[in-house]
Amino acid sequence: MTKESSKKISAAPSWLGLTQNRSSFVFLQDRAETVRKIFQLAIGGMGSYAIANYLDEQKVPTFTRSLNWDNTTIDSMLRNRATYGEYQPKSFAAGHKKGIPSGPPIAGYYPAVIDKATFDAAQAARQQNLAHRGRKGNDLANIFGGLCSCAYCGGEVIFHRISNVQVLVCEQVLNDSACSRSAWTYKDFETTVLAFLAHPALLDKMGEEQRTSLLGLAEEINSLSSDGDRRYTRRVNITVLLKQIVDSLIVHSAGNFSLPRHSSAQIRKDMDGRFVEIQLRDGPYYRCISIN
Ligand SMILES: [Zn+2]
Repeated sequence: MTKESSKKISAAPSWLGLTQNRSSFVFLQDRAETVRKIFQLAIGGMGSYAIANYLDEQKVPTFTRSLNWDNTTIDSMLRNRATYGEYQPKSFAAGHKKGIPSGPPIAGYYPAVIDKATFDAAQAARQQNLAHRGRKGNDLANIFGGLCSCAYCGGEVIFHRISNVQVLVCEQVLNDSACSRSAWTYKDFETTVLAFLAHPALLDKMGEEQRTSLLGLAEEINSLSSDGDRRYTRRVNITVLLKQIVDSLIVHSAGNFSLPRHSSAQIRKDMDGRFVEIQLRDGPYYRCISIN
């Protein structure tokens, strides 16, 4: 190995190898597939801890000798611009172990494992995650992350705890701004929406493309309660499939019409008449009432 090529490979991302003559990079196919999967999961709203757990559960091999995936590895991979081919030359002078950027980044230096749009989408999803859930926390408590909005103010409806009960509530309510000050118990909301999406009659309304995703989703939903061991994996799959099928969920947590209430007023949970409008990606939308 020449000095130049050994330098080239040592700086290369872990999903790339060198060709026989060591003149250019090639994908390590399985690893490239794993990188794509990680981006897909991040865009689906999963944080790095949840992704690491998921890969471990699926027994996806790591890129090192480590047996388990580490969230910091996932984090740095999701931030790594080499995923879409960019190379940032670095200077290692003056004892900088990690190097300091030197000169402009070079596009197309590495074969791109994902495109720039995918990279950007993952960054946006990560920003949202960090803003709403903090770095740790139970990443999969809310499988509807990023999908729910408030029917009354258009704000985002987010996952929250009120006296130890998990709820979905309008962000404005938590900001002490005027909105309906009503919340929907998370468990009730999830059961309601999943029961609707798993209903066989819905399949007839779907376009060809969406049918496969919906069939997959229904199968995951129906196996959730019976299959304890794979519950986490199933919830991950559901989270990803939901994003493919559902465009948005408009939450009417206090029913048809609700006046803004003063920010000192108590937040009311599970109001009679609450419903959610489910807007599917391929067109139709449905009004879905709580089944409890
Ligand atoms: Zn609101």
